[in-house]
Amino acid sequence: MKKTEQLYEGKAKKVYATEDPDYCIVEYKDDATAFNGKKKGTIVGKGIVNNRMSNFMFRLLAEKGIPTHYVEELSDRETVVKKVKIVPLEVIIRNKAAGSMAKRLGLTEGQELKCTVLEFSYKCDELDDPLINDSHAIAIGAATEEDIAEIRKLALAVNDEMVKFFESVGVELIDFKLEFGKDSTGKIILADEISPDTCRFWDIKTHEKLDKDRFRRDLGNVEEAYAEMMKRIGLGE
Ligand code: UDP
Repeated sequence: MKKTEQLYEGKAKKVYATEDPDYCIVEYKDDATAFNGKKKGTIVGKGIVNNRMSNFMFRLLAEKGIPTHYVEELSDRETVVKKVKIVPLEVIIRNKAAGSMAKRLGLTEGQELKCTVLEFSYKCDELDDPLINDSHAIAIGAATEEDIAEIRKLALAVNDEMVKFFESVGVELIDFKLEFGKDSTGKIILADEISPDTCRFWDIKTHEKLDKDRFRRDLGNVEEAYAEMMKRIGLGE
């Protein structure tokens, strides 16, 4: 399959059309942003890590019965995906308190939670992706009640599989963000990416951060952390 015109350029990826209207090609960039684009930089090789890790995770999840947009890896940075209409929600799953939840609720980073937390943010740059609940999402037409039920079920199933997998490679999955889309038949499938840009990964023993927080918080060794995650999942050099 070959790229035709560019459909979209986001902060970390470009999306191209193909000759087939049901498929797109995603190209991952090394550009890094944080705080809704207010902090900008480059993480050398990040596009390759995020492309290859996402595809690896989507293949693993597909084996467990979770429908995803993944079709075929074309190169280090390019992948064919099913064309979907993105549901404009960031679906965040939290196993431990961190980031914006720790700040908002006065919790310490890494604090235990009595249950898994599922959060929605409305995808809207002008509004800074505000935190909303499911009735807001339905009220503004971002998703239907049925969509929300399906997304919740899939997101929790993804979490169960991801927690197990990352534990097996010595990594604690603190939290992560998913996006879902509707394919040409209207079915909800997992889309976007699963990478150190979208997950908080902590070394199980040392609690060292192996994700984008190293960039967000200027902790240094950003490229090294992304490379370490590739090694852990068996894709490293
Ligand atoms: N996240 C993301 N994109 C966003 C916001 C959050 O991928 O635009 C991920 C982030 O990497 C983390 C989880 O979602 O794994 C929860 O993020 P949080 O709400 O704590 O926000 P942050 O601290 O990243 O601003």
